[in-house]
Amino acid sequence: MLKYDDSLLYGGTMMIKRILSLCLCLILLLSGCSYTQEPDKQSISFFAMDTYMEFTAYGEDAEPTLMSAREKIADLELLWSVTGENSDVYAVNHADGQAIEVAYETADILKFALDMSERTNGALDLTVYPILSAWGFTKEENRIPSKDEIKGLLSFVGYENVMLNGNTVQLEEGMMLDLGAVGKGYAGDIAAGILRENGITSALLNLGGNVQTVGSRPDGSDWRIGLQDPNGEGKIGVIEVSDLAAVTSGAYERFFIGDDGNRYGHIIDPSTGYPVENGLLSITVIAHDGKLCDALSTSLFVMGLDKSVEYWRQNQDFDMILISDSNDIYLTGGISERFTLDSDRSNMKVYVISE
Ligand code: AMP
Ligand code: MG
Repeated sequence: MLKYDDSLLYGGTMMIKRILSLCLCLILLLSGCSYTQEPDKQSISFFAMDTYMEFTAYGEDAEPTLMSAREKIADLELLWSVTGENSDVYAVNHADGQAIEVAYETADILKFALDMSERTNGALDLTVYPILSAWGFTKEENRIPSKDEIKGLLSFVGYENVMLNGNTVQLEEGMMLDLGAVGKGYAGDIAAGILRENGITSALLNLGGNVQTVGSRPDGSDWRIGLQDPNGEGKIGVIEVSDLAAVTSGAYERFFIGDDGNRYGHIIDPSTGYPVENGLLSITVIAHDGKLCDALSTSLFVMGLDKSVEYWRQNQDFDMILISDSNDIYLTGGISERFTLDSDRSNMKVYVISE
């Protein structure tokens, strides 16, 4: 379906995708890693941060560099796992209100995320974890919490109550952090940094739908990234980019149908404690900085179409593509020239957002 150098932006966390990913990873683990036969092209695939990752780089000595990037991702996963008892996040979440010293990367990503929470008026809030847990998204045992339960848990949500001093983090008792909305974007930046430091000028890193490109393809042309159809398994079009990251958020990545017949997705509006339901199916953010893309894709998804457009007009340090439940596509000028709608999607209307 996709050419070898294409990458599909998708949130590979639906149960079936997870099982497929796990099977694939098991095969890869058994055989070490997957390496292609093409000269100068090296690819590795592995499971990390709860998703299937695939890194491709060009250059004779690319293989050890890809392995270093993979090791770094594994280190970050150990620091940031919500459930791993030796992680920084676990220590902070189980500190009963005490201050905990964390690794540089943990403090750095928290600093960035808290700043983005401020900039997005709290649409991004890493302390939403107790609510996510009540909806069962942390254990895939979904349920609809009562209004009173949500109201009670909202008292533990509030990024402004995270105390970060240097490398020390302190939460109020009952609060819990989860880096799910920004971790892969930050990890992608670090992995791309490792590749660049080692002289690699052409690489495509797919961290479960968070795509990070280094330079352009070896022939100088742009990377072609497939944009996932949030209604199905296929793609709706292709974005052509070089040296940029592209990150998608959408409720279609992880959701459940409640006993009431409604669909509930994994992105929570921190102001209500309910899964976001605002007519958007997905949002893709494109910028140089992967962690900015990741933070914005989640928070703009919470904000919805109108507020996202307002935010973009005020900031303009990124491009975005939004897909609504009425099958319309809204994109910003910077990416409109680089986006091609698949010919079988001519029923979708495309709107360019003006400045
Ligand atoms: P992403 O796929 O980057 O949009 O991140 C979604 C994940 O971030 C969810 O699976 C939750 O773990 C977490 N999350 C959900 N809602 C929020 C929110 N409003 N702010 C921060 N993290 C969130
Ligand atoms: Mg995100």
